[in-house]
Amino acid sequence: MMDRRQLLMGAGGLPLVASAAAATAQTTGKAAGQPLPSGVDLPEPPKKRLGWAVVGLGSYAINQVIPGFLQAEESRMTAFVSGNPTKAKDLADRYGVAKTYGYDDFDKIAADKDIDCVYIVLPVGLHAEYTIRALKAGKHVLCEKPMASTVEECEAMVAAAKAANRQLGVAYRVHFEPLNTEVKRRCKQGELGDLRYITGDAGFNADPQYPPMKWRLDKPLAGGGSMYDIGIYALNGTLMMADQMPDTVSAVYAYPKDDPRFKTVEGGLNWRMTFPSGLSAQGSSSYCYAGGSRIKVFGASAAINMDPASDYYDNRANLHRGWDPGTPVRAAPPYTQFAAQVDGFSQAARSNTPHRTPGEMGLRDIRLIQAMYRSADQGGVVVKV
Ligand code: NAD
Repeated sequence: MMDRRQLLMGAGGLPLVASAAAATAQTTGKAAGQPLPSGVDLPEPPKKRLGWAVVGLGSYAINQVIPGFLQAEESRMTAFVSGNPTKAKDLADRYGVAKTYGYDDFDKIAADKDIDCVYIVLPVGLHAEYTIRALKAGKHVLCEKPMASTVEECEAMVAAAKAANRQLGVAYRVHFEPLNTEVKRRCKQGELGDLRYITGDAGFNADPQYPPMKWRLDKPLAGGGSMYDIGIYALNGTLMMADQMPDTVSAVYAYPKDDPRFKTVEGGLNWRMTFPSGLSAQGSSSYCYAGGSRIKVFGASAAINMDPASDYYDNRANLHRGWDPGTPVRAAPPYTQFAAQVDGFSQAARSNTPHRTPGEMGLRDIRLIQAMYRSADQGGVVVKV
């Protein structure tokens, strides 16, 4: 079936509306109006899209989240929330966003009918507080990863969503990225045979002077170290492809112990998981190695290597059937994962049905990482989960 974009585009990529008008103009010699083609699934008009408040206007919000909204088809930004009124006003003017709030008057969003959903893009240590305040204000909440600092905070967030009868999602964007969803589909449909082994790595070399890195190296605001911030992509991606839960985890810390960057959070963690099916997985997270993200899924008959697996753009995957050099896995990029993610959450909010990556998934991952920390604290013992 053709989607909206394909319907709007005629042969050779010419928009149908434009090419029909051009044809009429040619025959009559005059420009002439044409009716809207029937059967075209147009994006929601701006007023019908769900309204979103973006909370925290830092690096990720400015560079990825806000541009993502500009491509969205079911979501629009209606408020910015920041501790810096000048920045909030500047950005609101730039993007035509009508309202701004501070952290102190944040609870006033309860009376704001133009806000349906709230996107929490704050340091991790603040996720639970602002998520719960937004849920209590009657809004649906998409919270950035990792969900929160502790298992108890995550549980309180899930409970608050239930009590408010609102949706809570964790922003695991690759679940809305076409290449990742295509690899997941192939794993699930058995194209690789029974899954036997998955490796997942994600890390970068942390610059302590880079402002967004400062809170990431401070446990009260970060919750944890490299595993919380970046390793969670490899863990969550591994479980996305595995589509099953592990029964044991183990881990060891892996970073220079005298590195002054890592006084309160770990600089690296190497982990393992086993699954009742016989599948096993292992991976790493690091604030000490050059940037990269990759996942390789080995099945009994084929393997898929994703490298990079969870970048913002241009993720790649190759399918290998044995020793061959591999063939690329292709997936159409309809629009960015950032736009697809907010539109996916708007759909969940509109129907009040669970988002593809619900709060329970964020809670699951924090439980597993905490079990990895328990293992690493005891030198790598196997912990049942
Ligand atoms: P950042 O430091 O650039 O932005 C954080 C924002 O929170 C800033 O605007 C800052 O002013 C505000 N803030 C409010 N109270 C603060 C406090 N007490 N200390 C520090 N900042 C405070 O960080 P970021 O990289 O934009 O990360 C924000 C969130 O987005 C985090 O949860 C992070 O994990 C997540 N993130 C997700 C992705 C992804 O790919 N999904 C990528 C980057 C960041």
